[in-house]
Formats: sequence, structure tokens, C-alpha cells
Amino acid sequence: MNKPKHAPMTQFSSHEGELVSGGQPISRIAARVGSTPFYLYDRSIMTRKVAELRRYFPDSLHLHYAIKANSMPAVVNHMAAITDGLDVASVAEMHVALDTGIPAELISFAGPGKTREELRSAIAAGVIINVESPLELDRIIHISEALSIKALVALRVNPDFELKSSGMRMGGGAKPFGIDAEQIPALIKSIPSNLVTFKGFHIFSGSQNLKPESIIEAQTKTLELAYRLAEGVENDITWLNIGGGLGIPYFPGEQPLELETIATNLEQQLAICKNKLPNAQVVMELGRYLVGEAGLYIAEVTDIKESRGETFVITNGGLHHHLSASGNFGQVIRKNYPVCVANKMEADTLHKVSVVGPLCTPLDIIADKLELAPLEIGDLIAVYQSGAYGFTASPRDFLSQPQPKQILI
Ligand SMILES: *Cc1c(COP(=O)(O)O)cnc(C)c1O
Repeated sequence: MNKPKHAPMTQFSSHEGELVSGGQPISRIAARVGSTPFYLYDRSIMTRKVAELRRYFPDSLHLHYAIKANSMPAVVNHMAAITDGLDVASVAEMHVALDTGIPAELISFAGPGKTREELRSAIAAGVIINVESPLELDRIIHISEALSIKALVALRVNPDFELKSSGMRMGGGAKPFGIDAEQIPALIKSIPSNLVTFKGFHIFSGSQNLKPESIIEAQTKTLELAYRLAEGVENDITWLNIGGGLGIPYFPGEQPLELETIATNLEQQLAICKNKLPNAQVVMELGRYLVGEAGLYIAEVTDIKESRGETFVITNGGLHHHLSASGNFGQVIRKNYPVCVANKMEADTLHKVSVVGPLCTPLDIIADKLELAPLEIGDLIAVYQSGAYGFTASPRDFLSQPQPKQILI
């Protein structure tokens, strides 16, 4: 049996042995950044991903960028310009989103445990609040009354089904996210329409899914659930966020998601939706699918040593900057991210090495026994698929090592 391989990483090209972004070789980009390690994000790849989705998916579907995947302001500005709206998960993210200049009603704010202060800012800003609990709704109503500003609210629904084969399940069963579907009808009836504006629903069932069949099933069930919940509702449903869930290949054996069948089903479902909820704007929210493949984490080789027959390559970057690649962000069994030597893209021979970081913990692994080009001090190790949940999801103060830089090219 052949060992499973990483899907080919074709999003970045190379020239004369060097990985290229924005027309420049990696060595020049490293000089421009000034120091390693750093995250490199390539805006042309983000633009391509959005264009690809728009080519497949119905025109009436709005694409939102969930900025917790990568909240670098320059990235958020770029994404605001090419998508139809932004989703945020904290007030700090909300301010980054508002700073882009897009209208506040194209920004939605989700997340359990929003504080009164956060709710007050969100209501004053005029963003849509995805309500996560009955108490939160109560707080919103009171703040709206006190400020004399009608909050825009969508109820986040914890659906009565799960997104199958999802890397991270966030709906179905007992969950801290959203309000159980069974509780929704009574809650809608309790909303005082003179104080807050009820927009519709936010139904997010999971993320990092690479199986079109289960995404299709989840999207179909999500819309059916929305129709059921909308029955008997007097207010118009004007907003329907059906979540996202589209995954990207990280590990050996995983393949890029095929969009055709998902698109065909969406086309049919949106036609039904037009009939059932004629004024509902359907929104899909995506983080990693839009920016994950556009990012690299670059670390520099600082030492190489042999230990009892194995070669360890030590770099100045690791777990503290890129928790996901180290295997400690939601993985059950550690697997390698795709990794290359960015200044030796055309090596004839490969050597099996382990690439580790500078932290005093055995968890600080970038690549475990991977075949890479022959390495020397100063070489640049690149971790692919690092544009989402890299910088933002890492314990960057752990061991008080220097912070990574970020550059958008
Ligand atoms: C995290 C999150 C997303 C984005 O998930 P990705 O896997 O990055 O696409 C979208 N919506 C909500 C509510 C989230 O919490």
C-alpha cells in the first residue's frame, strides 16, 4: 500500500528553486520583512478563491468572510473589498471590520458570552448580533431601550442535526453555541418589535469539512430548519446565515473539496428559498476556505543535529507561532502539515528529517520525519495552509520568544 501523500500545493509558484509570491522570490521577501519567522499572506490567492466560489455558486448567495480565521487588518481590508460582508467574534474584531468602511449592517457578530459592554458597542455600531442565548436577547432588548437604538438581531440556532465528517462540530446535540431549535419559536414571539429588529437566523453546524455529500446534507437540512422555524412568524425573515464548513486539505490523503455538486444543490435550494422566504438574503460565512491556502509560515533553520540515527532540524519558529501546525489545535493524532524548503524548491534528493522549534517541550514539532531537500543553516522552512488559524490561534507569548511578523503581499 502506498503511503498517503499531501495534496499538491500548487497555489504558490516557484522560480529558480525559490518559492514566489507577488512576483518576488522568498529570499527577497524575507529581506523585505527584515527578520524571521513571519507569516506571508498572498492577496492574489485570496482573490482567486473568492472568484472560484462566485463562479460556481449562485449569484444571489452572499459570501461573508469570518475574520477570526485571520484578523490582520490588511487582510480584512482586502477581504472586505472582495466579499459581501464580514463576520466577527469579538468587539476588537468588530472594530477591525468597521474600519474597512463597509456598512455596519453587512457585519454580523457571533459568539457565546458577549458582555454587556460588547453588546452596547455592537448595538451602537449597528451590526447584526447573532444572539446566543435567551438571557443575551434580554440584555440586548434592555440596552436597545436605554440607547433608543433598535438592535439588529438574528437568532443563532443550535440545529437538531450535526454536520457529519466535520473537523470541528459546532451544532447538534447539547452545545454551548446558539439556542436549541426547539426553543426558537417561543423566543421569536417574545421579541418586542418596537425595541429590536428581528432579521432572521444564523445556523452554523461545523467547519473543516471535505465531504461534499455531508455539506450538501447540512445545507439542505439548514434551510429546511429555517423554513420550519419561520412558520407562523409575523416578521419578515430578511437574513439567513447558513454557515460555511468548507474545508481545505491539510494532511496526507486529504484532497481539495469538489464544488460542483455543492453548487448544484445550492442552486436548487436557493430557488426553493426564494419561494418560501422571498425576502431572505442567504449568506454563507467562510474563514479558512478563503484565506487558509493563501498563507505560509516561514521559519529559518538555526541548528541541525543527529540523535541516534535521526536528524533534527531546529528553527526559530514553532508551536508558539503556529499551534495548528504543531498538531495541538484540535487534532487527535498528530499529522504533518504540508511543508517545503522555500529556497530549495527543486532539490533532486530528499532526506528524512524532523523539523522542530526552539521551545523546551516535545510538542514543538513543525514536521515529524518528513522528506525534505538537504538542509543548511539559514534555509527557509515554509508551512503551507497557514493563512487561517495560524497567527490568531497561537499562544504567542509562550516561553517569551520573539513575536512573528505578518506581511500581506
Ligand atoms: C469559526 C467560525 C466560522 C469560520 O469557520 P471556518 O472553518 O474558518 O470557515 C464561521 N462562522 C462561525 C460562527 C464561526 O464560529
